[in-house]
Amino acid sequence: MPRNPRFDVLFEPVRIGPVTAPNRFYQVPHASGMTNALPHVRAKFRETKAEGGWGVVCTGAVSIHPSSDDAPLPFASLWDEADVRAHAAMTEAVHRHGSLAGVELWHGGAITMNRTSRLPPLSPSGMPWLSTHLGFMGNLRPRAMDRADIRELLRWQADAAKRALAAGFDIVYVYAGMGYLPYEFLLPEYNRRTDEYGGSIANRTRLVREMLEVTRDAVGDRAAVALRISLEELRAKPGTHAPSEAHEVVEALADVPDLWDVKMDSSPTDCAPSRFSPEGSHEPVIEFVKKVTKKPVVGVGRFTSPDFMVSQIRRGVLDLIGGARPSIADPFLPRKIDEGREHEIRECIGCNICISSWHDGVPVRCTQNPTAGEEWRRGWHPERVEPAASDASILVVGGGPSGLECAVTLARRGYRVTIADAAAEFGGRLRFETGLPGLSTWGRVADWRLGQLRGRANVSLFPGSSLTVDDVLGSEHAHVVVATGARWTRMLYATIEFPTEPFDAPRVYTPDDIAAGAVPEGPAVVFDFDNYYLGGAIAERLARHQVETHYVTTAGSASAWTFMTNELPLVHRALGAAGVTIHTLRRIAGFDGEEIALADVFTNAEQRLRCRSLVIVGVREPRDELYRELLARSGEFERAGIRSVSRIGDALAPGAIVHAVHSGHRYAREFDAAPTAVPYVRDFPLHRGQ
Ligand code: ADP
Ligand code: SF4
Repeated sequence: MPRNPRFDVLFEPVRIGPVTAPNRFYQVPHASGMTNALPHVRAKFRETKAEGGWGVVCTGAVSIHPSSDDAPLPFASLWDEADVRAHAAMTEAVHRHGSLAGVELWHGGAITMNRTSRLPPLSPSGMPWLSTHLGFMGNLRPRAMDRADIRELLRWQADAAKRALAAGFDIVYVYAGMGYLPYEFLLPEYNRRTDEYGGSIANRTRLVREMLEVTRDAVGDRAAVALRISLEELRAKPGTHAPSEAHEVVEALADVPDLWDVKMDSSPTDCAPSRFSPEGSHEPVIEFVKKVTKKPVVGVGRFTSPDFMVSQIRRGVLDLIGGARPSIADPFLPRKIDEGREHEIRECIGCNICISSWHDGVPVRCTQNPTAGEEWRRGWHPERVEPAASDASILVVGGGPSGLECAVTLARRGYRVTIADAAAEFGGRLRFETGLPGLSTWGRVADWRLGQLRGRANVSLFPGSSLTVDDVLGSEHAHVVVATGARWTRMLYATIEFPTEPFDAPRVYTPDDIAAGAVPEGPAVVFDFDNYYLGGAIAERLARHQVETHYVTTAGSASAWTFMTNELPLVHRALGAAGVTIHTLRRIAGFDGEEIALADVFTNAEQRLRCRSLVIVGVREPRDELYRELLARSGEFERAGIRSVSRIGDALAPGAIVHAVHSGHRYAREFDAAPTAVPYVRDFPLHRGQ
């Protein structure tokens, strides 16, 4: 289909200093968990986006010197010549598709703990970053930089910029954002210097200006120089002659870089989760930049709607549409718009599971796109699948995330697929969960897959069909995939971090009961040791329905694992705003229907609360009766024409939606393929000359 002319503006080339982006789709630097140790995995991951039409494809943070060492968090490096080859693999791959490659040169300053290099962290004035999360805490305080250190830093930046050129990059960054070293110079809280690098805006901006200048000198006219800068805190500070310090910094540096890449300061606002922030949430902070500079401006905002993108350009907010998560969820987003297939975009749901991969120190995962990170090691392409190797027909029982993904991928391969679900609507757990506060966007997981399934001649959809073993045996499908999900148990939590026996008493509920319509009487206690989003979201919903609600968790904070997805501070604020009382480091020691006993997880000291109902959000177990009953009747398979019965998703191992989608996808990719001993190819570092 031809492109809708409404979107033509998105496909205009944009000049960035000495280079030209072929269109306005700009994959901004973002963490991928792929260090120089995974050069092929990384090159293919970035290449897939260039193939999908992103005109610029950038790296994640690339350290310029061992004094910026984020281990055990993943980061890349350009410390010396030995690093060049690994990056060249990416730039060559990106260039094959006519896109530009950008490199985010980075020095972390006081934030990095230099656990591997064991060098003292650097900072403007010795002020540490006081993290509240264990993974980011360190005992080594940064040292204050003197003038010689600043000269060294500038040399490191210049040398890394030269290596970036040698590696083939077209855009070279100075990174003054997210609490890292040049940003620390911009902020008076970090920068308490009394020399020419501290005090006035002109002085605090001096280091960034000098970094831009040395980068320009290093790359000449062979690459563009970009400035990535966080403006949230600066925007909150009144300026002396302009509305804010952010205005004054941008004015001071207006045309020094070739490109402004503008963003927020902290992960929860910068990479804002959909549960708490809408598309385009950066605009109120960054909207002024284009009015101050003549250079192109790129920014992000979880943009997935082409109309929204066009409005950013038309209203003069941005010149280039930045994307990190939208490019992970759908590397082919630009191509789909270009080919008039925008309805096929696999829209990011804003769950931030991709961010959790970085915290976990592993290659990026994505809830919507199970091929993310698997392009090279498993050979999974987001848009291409192996054609069917037989004329097999497959019955998928259960239409949650895993069943839907499995059916879509099998159908794309050309197999005949029947998918049935007991419920009147497909979606599995999403049917309930997307009705919880803030979670409606997650419905895109089911919507996109149903959109792909509907209208395909090789797919039969049977909602409202609860299948029994006899139904399956009589269904005349050669292969059966059981995707029947999991159920929440009433197990409690023991002092030794084990689940205990189920706790059955009146007015004790699980999320499944709430999903089925149970309405807990107040005061209610939500006891959460699942620690992801659901306990917090249920507590928020109860409180919003005027039920007095206590949220109790064995962890140190509410929805503790949501730290990994940038949601944790926002969860606490939402629970506070809804009037939920939070009790951390507590387990349930007893409940008699009128009062509940909470015990401190370390001391066992008890506290009693008035409580009429208890909602336990703890352990799930597979809902796999159908699977087990089928296996019990395997003697009948041959007569029924059944050649295989398998489990996927939560019915196999209960997990997050990302796990279910990956499980369903994997089944479909590996169907009819010969099994391998190791399920993916392992990557190894590249050295000079390789
Ligand atoms: P997953 O996350 O693994 O996809 P879900 O719990 O989200 O799992 O979805 C499982 C789906 O399976 C639910 O929609 C449920 O209605 C459906 N289901 C469970 N048992 C049967 C059955 N016997 N026949 C048809 N559908 C079933
Ligand atoms: Fe978007 Fe979630 Fe995928 Fe990240 S993991 S790109 S937030 S859908």
